[in-house]
Formats: sequence, structure tokens, C-alpha cells
Amino acid sequence: MLKKKAIMIGAGLANMAGAVYLIQEGNWNGKDITFYALDTHGANDGSTASEAAEEYWNKSHPMENTKGFIARGGRMLNYRTYVDLMDLLDRIPSVTEPGMTAAEDTRDFDSKHRTYDKARLLQGGKGIVDGHKLGLNNLDRILLSRLVMMPDNQEEKLDNVTIAEYFEDSPHIFQTNFWYMWETTFAFRTQSSAQELRRYMHQMIYEFTQIEHLVGVNRTRYNQYESIMLPLIKYLEGQGCNFVMNRRVTDFEFKDTPMQDEITVTGLEMENIEQGTVEHVTVDDETVVFFTNGSITDSATLGDFNTPAPENMDYGAASSLWKKACERFYNLGNPDKFFNDRDASEWVSFTLTTKNHILLNEITRITTQVPGNALNSFISTEPITPLGHKDVNMSIVVHHQPHFTTQKANE
Ligand SMILES: Cc1cc2nc3c(=O)[nH]c(=O)nc-3n(C[C@H](O)[C@H](O)[C@H](O)COP(=O)(O)OP(=O)(O)OC[C@H]3O[C@@H](n4cnc5c(N)ncnc54)[C@H](O)[C@@H]3O)c2cc1C
Repeated sequence: MLKKKAIMIGAGLANMAGAVYLIQEGNWNGKDITFYALDTHGANDGSTASEAAEEYWNKSHPMENTKGFIARGGRMLNYRTYVDLMDLLDRIPSVTEPGMTAAEDTRDFDSKHRTYDKARLLQGGKGIVDGHKLGLNNLDRILLSRLVMMPDNQEEKLDNVTIAEYFEDSPHIFQTNFWYMWETTFAFRTQSSAQELRRYMHQMIYEFTQIEHLVGVNRTRYNQYESIMLPLIKYLEGQGCNFVMNRRVTDFEFKDTPMQDEITVTGLEMENIEQGTVEHVTVDDETVVFFTNGSITDSATLGDFNTPAPENMDYGAASSLWKKACERFYNLGNPDKFFNDRDASEWVSFTLTTKNHILLNEITRITTQVPGNALNSFISTEPITPLGHKDVNMSIVVHHQPHFTTQKANE
């Protein structure tokens, strides 16, 4: 049956993009698209700490200090790979630059503030490390080339293979400048999947030759909430889309078929997290349900300088819903592979808000460049990994200022 309406579970970048294309390419009416969501930023966040502290995962964990801003990371774009994202942003107006699309806004800002990292790697006692020497030996090169050249139809050889296992004959690679830069540019760890490394190599191959300066990296004018998500939200609201907030979708109802092999959603169960009540939404034949099945931030918790971020043992909103679907259908993947091993998947980031410029001036002095277009990674001076290797123990980004439209002067 031809579908005419859509329900989006979650209001992250992927579902909002889906809505834009349904409206612009499918000629759908915005009022026929409804989002049920916990937040309107997904992983592309950027807000004041006080707003973030009020969100679902953090509400019951009061923080002592909510004066600053939160940006869990800064999205690095790359025009040659991000063709689809730039197409999407060209379809919606910027919310901060009148007369520009969100894509024109990014291109305008980025062309005036090109990324050129002068201190991609640093180490105590050495200062800036010459990153253009990747440090690979012949065995590293052979294994890496084999990984990149592996045909798609053989990729399943990498099922359940970690990066550490793939390179077990050449652990040397984990002590090269190449690895220090690759792992910190793309958030890899040795326990991550070799399959994912292969796919990233394909997608980000352009970065290979410029990884020490990151010259191919393009950035948005402000944090990604204000430069990407807010334009999407405003556009979709203007088109009449419904955003039903504070809903955590907890289960699907599926159509009963003789073979139980037809994935047709007939209803959704959700929790109204403001009122703590359970709600049921019927899904009729005309409605299609969109669900992006993995989120790496939907169970993130916040702390501050004096309050540790609490351990959150919840399975996550997106992943537990995915698990529900897998209970019914055998062929929808294995969420445990992605979410069941906390040590393999959890990560920490921190945002510093300050009015004191001492640290900023020191970063400028040590990295020999004005902050705003670099990613500086610090290699430890002692072995810190389970493999007994030195590794990067922290990366920092000082965004071009202001990074939030509400930042005060000198903040
Ligand atoms: C620190 C960090 C740095 C990153 N850096 C980069 C980068 O440099 N370049 C890059 O390209 N990408 C980067 N990414 C990845 C990028 O941000 C994500 O790939 C992208 O945002 C994913 O979009 P999404 O819509 O699929 O999922 P999400 O953004 O995760 O959105 C999913 C949304 O659905 C909601 N949701 C999930 N389950 C439910 C449910 N059951 N009920 C209701 N709502 C639900 C979630 O709360 C969330 O808002 C980074 C991510 C992080 C965290």
C-alpha cells in the first residue's frame, strides 16, 4: 500500500533528513510527519549545561555547576565525502546567517577559517611531533593495504575481528603517528571492529594524505546544534511537522502473519517521560515508521568538575528498542554486538567554559597557532594501553569563537 504519512522515532539528523526529502522530493505534506523524540539534537548537540542537565538521562542526577556550555564533540565534515549532508543543508535556510542556506553558511565560514593543523600530535618532552612521517613499516603497510583492498564479498571474514586482532602480527602499527592520528580523528580504539576500520578507510580515504594537517576538514560556523539541527527543526516546523517531545518509544506492535516474516508496524508503545505514563499510538496502513537503530549519545550522562558523571546501566533508548524488534525477527542484526560491552564502547568528553584566558594563551603558545582550526592530540610519555604501548591520552579542540550564539564577550 502506498504510504502517505510517517512516524519518526527520534529526532536526530537521520530522521530529520528523511523528513526533508519526503517533503521536497516526495511532495509530502509536513503535517503528515510526526516525530516522537527525547530530544531534538541527537549526537549533534551544543547547548548550555543547564538545558542539557534537564534532559532525560540527566534529570535525576543534579549537577553542582551548570554555568557553562556543553558540546560533546565537534563534527568534522569533509565536502568530498559529505555530498549528501551538503545537499541536505542546501535545501534549508541558515538560522544565523540571513539570506544563506545552511550549506552556504558553512561554506562561507569554512572558506574564511580553513583547517590547517600545525600541532596535530604533541608529546611531553618533545613538543610538536612531526606527523607527516606516518611511521608505518612494511608489514603495517601490507596489512593495511589488504584491509582496504578486501572485496566487499569477503568482508565477513572480519566478523568478530577487532583491530588489535587484525594487526596481531604487527602491533607496531599502534605506535605509529598514523595510528595516533587516525584513532583520534575518527574515534577508534584497538578493541573496535576491523570491519568498521575498513569501511572508514573507504569513506575517509581522502584524509589519508592530509591527516597531519587535516586540511580537508570542513567545519560549521557554530556548534552543530545551531548550524545544522536548528535550521532543520525550524524548516520542518515551518512545513507543519509535529514534534511530540519527551516520548521514549519502548516497543513495537507488529502485524501477525502466517510466517511471522513481514515487518509491518501496527502500533507503538511509548513512555511519556514527563508524566511517567505509558501511551499507545496506533499505526495505520498509510503510515510508515522510521527508526534509526543506533545512537551513541542517547544514554550519555553529565557530570561537572565536582560531580562525577553517573554510570548509566540502561541499555539505551535506541538500542533497547532495536533489541525488542530482534526478539521478534531473526534478521535484524545483533544490538549486543554494539552495546553490551561497555568497556568496548564507552567514551568520555569534557567541555571547558572559562573567562580566564591563561589556558587559551598557553595552548596558542604551545601549538604555535591561533585556536579554531586544529585538533591537538597528546601522546603519553609512558605505556598506557593493555598492549603495553604509549598512546594518545587526550585530544583537545578549541573551537573558533564564539562557538555558541549565546556566548558572552570574553567567555
Ligand atoms: C562526540 C562525537 C563526535 C562526532 N564527530 C563526528 C564527526 O566529526 N563527523 C561526523 O560525520 N560524525 C561525527 N559524529 C557522529 C554523528 O554525530 C552521528 O553519526 C549522527 O549524529 C547520527 O545521527 P542519527 O540521526 O543517526 O542518530 P542520533 O543523532 O543519535 O539521533 C537519534 C535520536 O533518536 C533519539 N531516540 C533514540 N531512541 C529513541 C526512542 N526509543 N524513543 C525516542 N527517541 C529515541 C535519541 O535521543 C536521539 O535524539 C560524532 C558523534 C559524537 C558523539
